[in-house]
Amino acid sequence: MALSLPAGTRLVAATHNPGKAREIAVLLEDRFQVVSAGELGLPEPAETESTFTGNALLKARAAADRSRLPALADDSGLSVRGLDGAPGIYSARWAGPDKDFGLAMRKVEERLHEIGSDDRFAWFTCALALAWPDGPAVVVEGRIEGELTFPPRGDRGFGYDPIFLPEGGRQTFGELEPAVKDAMSHRARAFAQLKAALFD
Ligand code: IMP
Repeated sequence: MALSLPAGTRLVAATHNPGKAREIAVLLEDRFQVVSAGELGLPEPAETESTFTGNALLKARAAADRSRLPALADDSGLSVRGLDGAPGIYSARWAGPDKDFGLAMRKVEERLHEIGSDDRFAWFTCALALAWPDGPAVVVEGRIEGELTFPPRGDRGFGYDPIFLPEGGRQTFGELEPAVKDAMSHRARAFAQLKAALFD
């Protein structure tokens, strides 16, 4: 069976963050009627898997099966080679309940220092999963590689952007024009793959 999603289909963005649901609608070129899991009152499943793709699929499947509509979920984060891939799927959790990414970035620097690693190679990952109710799913993953730099630089972007230098670049994701970051990011790469898989 060819998996496709006709334009105009009602699609659940498996998130309780209205900003993220809107971003997903735009990244899909406003081809679908996007409604968020929050608006539908769906519960947020615990992210119990050990990989980005596993967690994205778990969230998409839970939203699709409950809503009876196709559902799209993402899971993303920063992985540092010198920390064996940490913070990885725990990227948001390293910022604590106050979502303090200054703290999270200091933790990355301290952990590298503690273990005496000077390996600064790192990458962002974005996994996307689109699941149909009781049916199949499409899972894709986009990545961008680069290096960490300390102290953090730039006040654009979010999360770990100020310590991430994309490969070949001299400006961090926190310094780059948002449009430049958005064109090369792990998220852009994942959405390009999803669109190639779905759009006619
Ligand atoms: P999620 O929303 O549960 O997938 O958590 C993703 C976390 O990874 C965010 O809270 C950020 O800390 C981090 N992250 C993902 N993408 C980016 C990015 O483009 N820049 C900076 N941090 C990111």
